Amino acid sequence: MKNTEIEIITSVKKILTESKKKITIVPHEHPDGDAIGSALGLGQVLKNFGHEVQVISVNDYPDFLKWFSSDVPVLIFEKEKKVAKELMFASDIMICVDFNEEKRTGHLEKFIKRFENTRILIDHHPYPTDFCDYTISETSYSSTAELVFDVTEAIGLHPQIDLKAAEALFTGVLTDTGGFNHNTSNNTFKVVSKLMELGINTDKIRSEVFSNFSAHRMRLLGYCLNEKMKVFPEFRSAVISLTIEELERFNFKPGDTEGFVNYPLSINNIVFSALFIEKVGFVKASFRSKGNFPANTFSSQHFNGGGHLNAAGGESELNLEETIAKFTQLLPEFKHQLLETTI
Ligand code: 5GP
Ligand code: MN
Repeated sequence: MKNTEIEIITSVKKILTESKKKITIVPHEHPDGDAIGSALGLGQVLKNFGHEVQVISVNDYPDFLKWFSSDVPVLIFEKEKKVAKELMFASDIMICVDFNEEKRTGHLEKFIKRFENTRILIDHHPYPTDFCDYTISETSYSSTAELVFDVTEAIGLHPQIDLKAAEALFTGVLTDTGGFNHNTSNNTFKVVSKLMELGINTDKIRSEVFSNFSAHRMRLLGYCLNEKMKVFPEFRSAVISLTIEELERFNFKPGDTEGFVNYPLSINNIVFSALFIEKVGFVKASFRSKGNFPANTFSSQHFNGGGHLNAAGGESELNLEETIAKFTQLLPEFKHQLLETTI
C-alpha cells in the first residue's frame, strides 16, 4: 500500500479495533462483483470482530452475485429508502468501497455528503476526490477486494477473515480481473493464495460467477456478437449497441450485459471496445482497452465518465444512434494512439 501514509492506517486501525461500532458499508451504484465482494468481505470481517455491520447499496445487484453465504445484511436503498436512510445516519462509521467520487453512488450522494460521523474510503480507482476523512486509495491494486485483504492485515483484523469473507473477497478479485485476465500483479496472486488457504472452492465460485447465464442472456450475447457488433480494423476498435426494445426481447435482467464489452477484445488486433446500452433518457457507455490505450481518458473527455486505464464507463445524453455516430466519428482522432498501442 505504497500510496497510503502509515498515519492513516494507524488511525483506521484505532477506529476499527478500539471499540465496537455501528458501521455502514457503501458500494457504488449498479454494484459489480468487486463492489459487492469488497463490501461483503470487509463487512464479514468487521462483523466477526464484533461490530454491527450492514451494507447499503443504492440499487440491486445481479443474480450471479447472490449466492454468498454472508452474515452481513444488504439493504437496497431504492427498495427500502426510509429504513436504509435511518440505519445509515445511526452509524458511527461509513466505509465507501470501490468508487472514487460521491456521485458514483447515485441517489446516495447527498446522504454521503450529509453524514457527519467518520467516513473511510477504500478504493483502487485513479484520481480519488477528497470526500472522506480517511482515504486509502491504491491504484496499483487489481481490485478493491485485493486491497481490503491487505488493509485487513495491516490493521490486524486478518484472523477474522473466515471462509465467508474469503469467498466474497475472492469474487471481487476474480471479477475485476476478468477471471485473472488483466490487471493482475504478484500481490494479486499472493492475496488469492492466502484466500485459498482458508479453504474456498474456487471452481465453485468461478462457476457461480461466470457459468451462470440464463438461456436468454446467452442468446442475447450471441445476438450482440452476430448482429450488433461493428468492427473497425483500421482503428483496432469495435462497438456493440443495444436498444431497450432489444433488451426486452431477450427478457433483460440487471447484470445480463455484464462482460459483453470484453468480447470484441478477443478479436485479433482489436485493442479498444465500446458497449452502448439505451436507458430511459440516456445511453450507458462501457469502454475496455488493451495495453496503454486509455479508456478512462477517452470516457472522461467525451462521455462524461471515467474509470481505470483499461476499463471505464460513462454516459451520453444523445440518443443511441447519435451516440454510436459520435463514437465512430471520434475514432479517426484517436487513430494514431490506437495504432501505436502496445500490450
Ligand atoms: P462498467 O463498464 O463495468 O460499467 O465500468 C467500468 C469501470 O468504469 C468501473 O471501474 C467503474 O467504476 C467505472 N465507471 C463506470 N461508469 C462510470 C461513470 O459514469 N463515471 C466514472 N467516473 N466511472 C465509471
Ligand atoms: Mn473495482
